Amino acid sequence: MSELSELYQEVILDHNKTPRNYRRLADATCSAEGYNPLCGDQITVYVTLDDGVIRDVGFQGSGCAISTASASIMTTTVKGKTREETGRLFDTFHRVVTGGDPLPDLDSLGRLAAFAGVREFPARVKCATLAWHTLRAALDGRIEPVKTE
Ligand code: ZN
Repeated sequence: MSELSELYQEVILDHNKTPRNYRRLADATCSAEGYNPLCGDQITVYVTLDDGVIRDVGFQGSGCAISTASASIMTTTVKGKTREETGRLFDTFHRVVTGGDPLPDLDSLGRLAAFAGVREFPARVKCATLAWHTLRAALDGRIEPVKTE
């Protein structure tokens, strides 16, 4: 294993052990639930949206290390961003984990780049993207729970 992927693995292990923003928001304006039946990951994402900007975001749930770390890193990444910026980030992140074209510049991605190794394990892509799909559902105000299949 290269030094770089060891570093990325540390980031994922750290966020899994100590998830950031792991809380229900009392003043959430929208929320959504997501479920990844392939792995059993479950998540609820809470968002406080103010004038199109994510003022606060939190999550709760249970899942594997990748899904928990991804949710944690997502919350630290999208706070303060607009819906549009969040949508673009999700698009970029999706290409990171699937190896889609054009491949994003990992250096500019911060901790999101930690998930680049996921593309070697297609079954884990749903683990890594569950929180993002759920966030998007919350922002869209969808009522139906998200399923990754
Ligand atoms: Zn999982």
